[in-house]
Amino acid sequence: MIIPRAAHTISRADISPAALKVLYRLKEAGYQAFLVGGGVRDLLLGIVPKDFDVATNALPEEIRRVFRNCRLIGRRFRLAHVHFGDEIIEVATFRAAAAPAEVDDDDHREIPDARLQDDSGRILRDNVYGDIDDDVWRRDFTANSLYYNIADFSVWDYTGGVADVKDRVLRLIGDPETRYREDPVRMLRAARFAAKLGFSIHPDTFTPMQELAELLGGVPAARLFDESLKLFLAGHGVASFDRLRNFGLLAHLLPATAQELDRDPDGPFSRLVQLGLSGTDARVRADKAVTPTFLYAVLLYGPILRRMTDRMAAGQPASYALDGAIDEVVMAQVRRIGVPKRFTMPLKEMLVLQPRFERRDGRRALGLLAHPRFRAAYDFLLLRVQAGYVSQELADWWTEIQTLDADARHEKVAALASSHGDEAAEEGVAEDGGEARPRRRRRRRRGRGGSGGSGGPAPVGE
Ligand code: ATP
Ligand code: MG
Repeated sequence: MIIPRAAHTISRADISPAALKVLYRLKEAGYQAFLVGGGVRDLLLGIVPKDFDVATNALPEEIRRVFRNCRLIGRRFRLAHVHFGDEIIEVATFRAAAAPAEVDDDDHREIPDARLQDDSGRILRDNVYGDIDDDVWRRDFTANSLYYNIADFSVWDYTGGVADVKDRVLRLIGDPETRYREDPVRMLRAARFAAKLGFSIHPDTFTPMQELAELLGGVPAARLFDESLKLFLAGHGVASFDRLRNFGLLAHLLPATAQELDRDPDGPFSRLVQLGLSGTDARVRADKAVTPTFLYAVLLYGPILRRMTDRMAAGQPASYALDGAIDEVVMAQVRRIGVPKRFTMPLKEMLVLQPRFERRDGRRALGLLAHPRFRAAYDFLLLRVQAGYVSQELADWWTEIQTLDADARHEKVAALASSHGDEAAEEGVAEDGGEARPRRRRRRRRGRGGSGGSGGPAPVGE
């Protein structure tokens, strides 16, 4: 069905100038050019699209010849990226959804091994080119399969996408089970679009998810990491998390997190996750930076504390138990979601600092303030307070001390020492653990066996 310009609400004024340039340039070079995917869907809904995707009958090499500012990317799915400053317009060549055997005629410029599937039906490579009649059927949801034609500004709707957008329903194109097997990430995309757009999921699209969710285990960890950022760091993290849980997908993405939440649905960890995600959503809305480090620290904190407790019950001193628990939980998680080291390293530093907030004798307190990870660790402390892990008084103390100059800071620490004289003295002993002086700027006690903890209470958080 072709909907003429007069019968729809998509206006060029709402399309980014860069996307328009790409569309017009392709058209002038003699190719078909359509705006497709989320851009068309969102414009019909009256939302500002996150990005604009273009579909064309030009082959990747041909696209590259049209644009100087163009890079070809992707192996699984070959694409052209046209760069305009910060903005990237993704240009995809029409692809065929049919099996390779059916598309070996001249129209379909198949390249050898262009399509590859594994035993579960997962598509490993999808570079069988076709025309728009093919391309519409290989897209995921009907709402994502609408094409805006730059030649006459009409919208092409083969799959009933316009009606589904109106009804706010997500419906997979084709046989849902087959489509999930081809690409299990489509289940996550269903959760994400349901969250972001407030759409419901058509029952036929919903039902097979329960049974097929475990196929997420076969998706490359790096792709799941990318997908996790779109779910949780794009301004609708609370809603995404909620959908993932309800759809039975969370346990396959964040198994330790899901398990911990099931064990204690109303406990502090549940609150921490809710607060962490809603805080992140608010930051995105306010255009503030968000980071996978903080996100994954929140998501894994419950499982880490549990493992730490287990380790302490088995006789490990607190600091080693925490260290080991972080490594253990993070390592298990990154096998599934490939969070890069540049995020997991600071995550660990941030969590290791947490117990140090609870020990406020002079030297250590002031040292913590100067720690390069202080800011992130302090933000995490505030979240722990809100979730009910630690007292508000502790947060207030750390909030106030940051506002003071050096002399006032020393006074504040001294005041605490005199009001909690015994506690501070005791801590001092524990901290020394009978070790040799001088002790200014001591190294972290890593690798010294547990000997430091053999005397008094174990040093926490070092
Ligand atoms: P947004 O950009 O708002 O997150 P989008 O729908 O544009 O949403 P993209 O990931 O940018 O999503 O993909 C662009 C289009 O490519 C989709 O609308 C869909 O038509 C198609 N597409 C993307 N991923 C898949 C997939 N895994 N299977 C089938 N089609 C897909
Ligand atoms: Mg998009």
